[in-house]
Amino acid sequence: MSEIVVIGGGLAGSEAAWQAAERGCRVTLYEMRPEKMTPAHQSGQLAELVCSNSLGSNLVDRAPGLLKQELRVLGSMVLACADAAAVPAGAALAVDREAFSGCVTERVACHEGITLVREELRSIPEEGIVVVATGPLTSAPMSDSIASLTGSGHLSFYDAMAPIVAADSVDLQIAFRASRYGRGSGGLPLDGEGGDYINCPMSREDYDVFLDKLLGAETIPLRGFEREDAHFFEACLPVEELARRGPMALAFGPLKPVGLRDPRTGRRPFAVVQLRQDNLAATLYNLVGFQTNLKWGEQERVFRLIPGLAHAAFMRYGQMHRNTFLCSPALLKPTLQYSRRDGLLFAGQLTGTEGYIGSVASGLVAGLNAARLARGESPVAFPGTTMIGALCRYVSGAEAQSFQPMKPNFGLLPPLDPPISQKRDRYQAYAVRALADLGRFTEASGVLLHRGQPG
Ligand SMILES: Cc1cc2nc3c(=O)[nH]c(=O)nc-3n(C[C@H](O)[C@H](O)[C@H](O)COP(=O)(O)OP(=O)(O)OC[C@H]3O[C@@H](n4cnc5c(N)ncnc54)[C@H](O)[C@@H]3O)c2cc1C
Repeated sequence: MSEIVVIGGGLAGSEAAWQAAERGCRVTLYEMRPEKMTPAHQSGQLAELVCSNSLGSNLVDRAPGLLKQELRVLGSMVLACADAAAVPAGAALAVDREAFSGCVTERVACHEGITLVREELRSIPEEGIVVVATGPLTSAPMSDSIASLTGSGHLSFYDAMAPIVAADSVDLQIAFRASRYGRGSGGLPLDGEGGDYINCPMSREDYDVFLDKLLGAETIPLRGFEREDAHFFEACLPVEELARRGPMALAFGPLKPVGLRDPRTGRRPFAVVQLRQDNLAATLYNLVGFQTNLKWGEQERVFRLIPGLAHAAFMRYGQMHRNTFLCSPALLKPTLQYSRRDGLLFAGQLTGTEGYIGSVASGLVAGLNAARLARGESPVAFPGTTMIGALCRYVSGAEAQSFQPMKPNFGLLPPLDPPISQKRDRYQAYAVRALADLGRFTEASGVLLHRGQPG
């Protein structure tokens, strides 16, 4: 059996290495810390949590909770360590960060199938089965190596994410569907109603109130390494910074109303916030041009002043931080294999599966598939009705041009048939369907771990 190389011993790489080793493969895991630190990590432990100690909800009818349950079913080592290191946090899974990363480090370092090498790997090995999981703070030489493989246009270094809201939480009594100048996808004229965007019309008064609250809202302080980079803000100007450049900067910028008429008044609004479809199922919409560094609570408070968004459900908040990630839809398959080299897989935040638990999930998929390749078996893609499958399908299948990392959320799942209007019942039904489909899939594909599996 061939050796597997895993690069990066974070949340994704530790899970990937362990999954492959548990399936009888020989794994070499390269982690550059503590020899070379990232700007955010503080220790040499594997799977260090760089910020919050919360891994999000543990409730199965919440998207991160469902993903955790799926990971438990699939035998995730990192999640088992999180469960073992849990601290009281209501319905969330929060951990004692040192106990957690200590547990992962021990499980990996003591695994007889894993050789842990404390060294920076500066380029992707040209042959063999390789999992790259070097995370949002990938070292510069490795970033260069990835960029030369994929093309530099396919690698981003900053995240400037606009918030995403659930489509069914937008008030369509106020907001209206239309594209500028009545053009549909591909610039073709639309006949009658419709349009690619949901438009939230603002009167002059709405605009002034919104601007005032936006300018007064609290922002997240930038970290040292983000402040030091002169290009950080110019490359992805947050909406609140643009607003500071003058009272009409937004009205002439992302909120310009040109080519739009409110069907209820027959007139052009003073300003318009456009929402753009964010997933194929059309359940998620992002606020166009609203990349922001406002605190999350402030985003809800201020952006709900936008007409039509008073009751918006925020599925992802806007945020800005340094974040190396691939344009995965142009590069990866739902198995997380690089489309031009079957034996090269990517995992973790680098692929756009955002957040701690999403990174563990893509690490599990990449490790499992690396082992399957090493064993001469076909790699697997999990069903799109499961949260783990939906995430991998999102990163490999989203619209490439505007691709941004994504946390687990129910908007990624295909709609239920028949639909359920009550939110709590709907989420529960998503969870029931996901776990049933995962059960059927694991039985049919034989992907579950059996201890002592032959190598
Ligand atoms: C500042 C910051 C704050 C964040 N806060 C949160 C939060 O509160 N909650 C949340 O859910 N997510 C947060 N995230 C996102 C978070 O990084 C990911 O959720 C998660 O850590 C990503 O897992 P990963 O395995 O992809 O990367 P990481 O956990 O970062 O692991 C990557 C590993 O690769 C190593 N490495 C890098 N380059 C090389 C190389 N060339 N050779 C060998 N090793 C290398 C690194 O040292 C690191 O250990 C934050 C990210 C950043 C940057």
